[in-house]
Amino acid sequence: MKERCTKYEALFTFADETTLQEHLKVCEDCRKEQEEMDKVSELIGEVKPFLKKKKTSYHHLKVACILFALVIGGASVGVVGTNQDVMDYIKYGETLSAEDLGFPVDSYGFLLVE
Ligand SMILES: [Zn+2]
Repeated sequence: MKERCTKYEALFTFADETTLQEHLKVCEDCRKEQEEMDKVSELIGEVKPFLKKKKTSYHHLKVACILFALVIGGASVGVVGTNQDVMDYIKYGETLSAEDLGFPVDSYGFLLVE
């Protein structure tokens, strides 16, 4: 019994159309593979409009998600970045006073300027 030809995939992937067609003429195994492939292509052709439509709406959803994340993320970064107290609170768990930062302060906690 002759071994099944395994060239189809390689030819289909790497060879040009003519080489593939030439081989298909002499190789029954690969003709069968080609038929299967045609069936699959047909099937893909049938569901493609549906898939494309689905993909488009998915794409829109993705864009919406990214925009949403950017707006939320951007907004919170903006607030945190410009508010030192909030940054301190996040980093140290409390708002630091001038004294905590090691500056000389008077009894009111204000910066001592000599
Ligand atoms: Zn073959």
